[in-house]
Amino acid sequence: MSLRTRLAAIVALAVLLVSTLVILSARELAERELEQNVDNELRQAIATVASDLRPREGGRGNRRDNRLESRRWFAQIVDRDGTIINNADDAPLLVFTADDAALFDRPLIKDRDGLDGSRIRFANVDLDGDTYRVATRAFPRGAVQVAINRGGIDTTVAGLTDRLWILVAFGALISALVGYLVANRIARPIERLASTATEVAKTRDFGQRIEVDRSDEVGKLANSFNSMLGVLEVSQEQQHRLVQDASHELRTPLTSLRTNIDLLSARGDAIPADQRNEIVADLKRESQELTNLVGELVDLATDQDAAAASPIEFDLGAVTNDIATRFGRLEDRAITVQGDHQLVVADIEAIERSIVNLVTNAVKFSPAGSAIEVVLSTDAGLHRVEVHDQGSGIPAGDEERIFDRFYRSDETRTLPGSGLGLSIVAQTAERHGGSAWAANRSPGPGALVGFSFSSLS
Ligand code: ADP
Repeated sequence: MSLRTRLAAIVALAVLLVSTLVILSARELAERELEQNVDNELRQAIATVASDLRPREGGRGNRRDNRLESRRWFAQIVDRDGTIINNADDAPLLVFTADDAALFDRPLIKDRDGLDGSRIRFANVDLDGDTYRVATRAFPRGAVQVAINRGGIDTTVAGLTDRLWILVAFGALISALVGYLVANRIARPIERLASTATEVAKTRDFGQRIEVDRSDEVGKLANSFNSMLGVLEVSQEQQHRLVQDASHELRTPLTSLRTNIDLLSARGDAIPADQRNEIVADLKRESQELTNLVGELVDLATDQDAAAASPIEFDLGAVTNDIATRFGRLEDRAITVQGDHQLVVADIEAIERSIVNLVTNAVKFSPAGSAIEVVLSTDAGLHRVEVHDQGSGIPAGDEERIFDRFYRSDETRTLPGSGLGLSIVAQTAERHGGSAWAANRSPGPGALVGFSFSSLS
């Protein structure tokens, strides 16, 4: 069942349910009100019959009396045993029940007619296929019973309920229609959303957007959907670019590798031993660079999806000291760390990798034995890591570009490297709400390259 039909059916059902309850209580109220009127008429009639009887002497006996009926009612008089003494012409006889007889035992309380208010009871009685409202009032020597055909009440109530049911049917129909229209208004944008999602799944074109012309929940849903498409579009674009850049960058070392292998396999024996050794050394170096490049590419690609990596709390100072000690020992040079221990919450692997990349560059681009300093600080809620070296420094104008993927300054192209290290740093910083920067030390020589990040929570 569609949302429209469901909503229309629910609204119509709710209206029907509430209206049924209203009709039932209205019907009861009307019936009670009309019965009350009839009961008053019956009281009146009993008073009339009683006052007509009172002055007459010798009222006892089986005499029929015309005053025992009117157009509305008929009456009968019974003695204390329930034997009918007088009744109206052609009127059916009323039954004097045990409940009626019990009226004689009730205490006497005079009402405003001067009659006994407590000694009266009303009942609905079926007689010859009709229903009558019968009032029985006990007097000291007998009782008066008066009956009015209830048909009037029943017809009026039935007429009223019939009219109400017609109104309810109309009401339910109109509310079903309104429900349908409202559901239609809600469903249309959801359907557009669904068809766009299907379209996107089919074409993988994340550039599509849904028009949002409302600010309610459905509008918010469409907005969220558009933002999700935006994120997917950027991610798809990044992946495309990465694959394109990577295939371009991999081609050169692979060609060089293949040329050397071809050379060895075609003329291996004819090449002098020292030249052959040189070619093999080249092959080793190139395959090592290729391995590094692939490793960094994998890092970069996985880092793009690392938003899901769960951040953990760690001591930035301890992690940096570790790296400095490791590299210092390896390179046999002084790498010092300046700054306090800071507890941070972040993707520890990405932060570690970024510090390693900065230290690797500082080692690579500065003379052997020169000092390297890693400065830790905090500024405006951001944690900062900056590596100072005493090397060649960043060529003027390259401060921004060195963070681009595969970018390497002309001056450093002869050194091993992929041009990916700093883009990994920039990406990590950005993912952690920070940034990356590079500048030359002043006074020089040397570069200072760093990044900032905020603690994730
Ligand atoms: P790679 O070091 O593999 O070339 P990076 O992305 O780490 O790739 O660095 C990009 C370029 O930025 C380097 O090739 C180099 O030209 C420049 N660079 C990075 N760090 C320094 C530094 N500390 N001193 C001088 N130049 C640097």
